[in-house]
Amino acid sequence: MVHIQELEKYAKENNIPIMETDGIEFLLTYIKENNIKNILEIGAAIGYSAIRMCLVDSDIKVTTIERDEKRYKEAIKNIKLFNLEDRINIIFDDAFNVELNDSYDLIFIDAAKSQYIKFFEKFKLNLKDNGVILSDNLNFHGLTHTEKEIKSRNVRGIVRKLNNYIEFLKENKEFDTTFYEIGDGISISKRSK
Ligand code: SAH
Ligand code: MG
Repeated sequence: MVHIQELEKYAKENNIPIMETDGIEFLLTYIKENNIKNILEIGAAIGYSAIRMCLVDSDIKVTTIERDEKRYKEAIKNIKLFNLEDRINIIFDDAFNVELNDSYDLIFIDAAKSQYIKFFEKFKLNLKDNGVILSDNLNFHGLTHTEKEIKSRNVRGIVRKLNNYIEFLKENKEFDTTFYEIGDGISISKRSK
């Protein structure tokens, strides 16, 4: 029997950015309280969040996408260890190459932080009418809220793009978004009524 703590340990030792503890708890509670059954995740890493979401209830299904081969292989291994091969469909590809026909109750965006607007625009087509899009890491370790100068050009670029995404969500007429200061910053977007 494997324990979820072993995945957390592996993630820590190998610098895999899995969801933070209070972030994942928030996500799992949301899934439970809103009776979410069919989930799409962009960014599987080692399968940690996909496995945890699946374990909320025995009839939950997750489709998840990962482009990094090493992480994908690790995820496959972990999904098998938890006997969830029937309920987690993991796709090894860049999310922008993936065309899905299904529609989902929840779409969880947790991949390249500079591409969030593009992920949102692409995958909203796979969202059920009353579905939600949940995005992680909007704080980017507090950097999206800071006035301080960021030295790394790369990090500066990501922060700028995340701030663009936050603005995009705030101004979006099609979706209403609520922002939560939980974990590394989470948003939940629903179609406007
Ligand atoms: N959701 C996971 C953590 C994901 S980390 C958890 O909480 O357990 C983000 C992952 O997204 C990384 O493994 C990265 O390789 C992947 N990723 C980034 N951009 C991607 C893209 N365009 N398509 C597919 N995977 C992507
Ligand atoms: Mg994340």
